[in-house]
Amino acid sequence: MIQLHDKMFVPFISAQEIDDAIQSLAKQVEADFGHETPVFIGVLNGSFMVVSDFMKYYKKNCEVSFIKMASYQGTTTTEVVKELIGLNQDLTGRSVVIIEDIVDTGNTLIELKELFKAQNVKELKIATLFFKPEAYKKDIKIDYIGISIPNKFIVGFGLDYDELGRNLPEVYQLNDK
Ligand code: 5GP
Repeated sequence: MIQLHDKMFVPFISAQEIDDAIQSLAKQVEADFGHETPVFIGVLNGSFMVVSDFMKYYKKNCEVSFIKMASYQGTTTTEVVKELIGLNQDLTGRSVVIIEDIVDTGNTLIELKELFKAQNVKELKIATLFFKPEAYKKDIKIDYIGISIPNKFIVGFGLDYDELGRNLPEVYQLNDK
């Protein structure tokens, strides 16, 4: 058991299981895109570890870039405008695979899809290491899923609890007992 800030977390997914899942994701994407040069886009902060390992298992030509979604409070307190920081590359006609650390409700995916609409990409696919099917409320297809998990808060392998825990090589689950 580990403590981060005020909460306790119990071991949940081993480093080996995570590694196997990422290798499998890379092989699936390679089977679909190995004949061209796809652009992988990692969504920061959480995805930095997934993308790094994914790239090492992807053996064909590829490019990588990172983006960050920023929320700005608008003129009213309820209005939140999402903006994409870091996408300074022309993606016209390119095959793009977004690499996420985790998909929960799917709200972030909706925002991302919307923001990529203007990019005129050839194809846009979504890959995620972790997926919470019970929490997912959207109908956007997630093309590549590493590990499906219950609807409980996790930390480790890039995922944080109030910025702590990102450096853990394995994944822990909130101990709510
Ligand atoms: P969504 O927009 O799909 O609801 O959530 C996506 C974002 O919420 C993720 O990129 C991540 O930052 C955060 N998130 C969702 N579930 C978890 C979780 O179990 N643990 C952590 N650390 N972050 C989560």
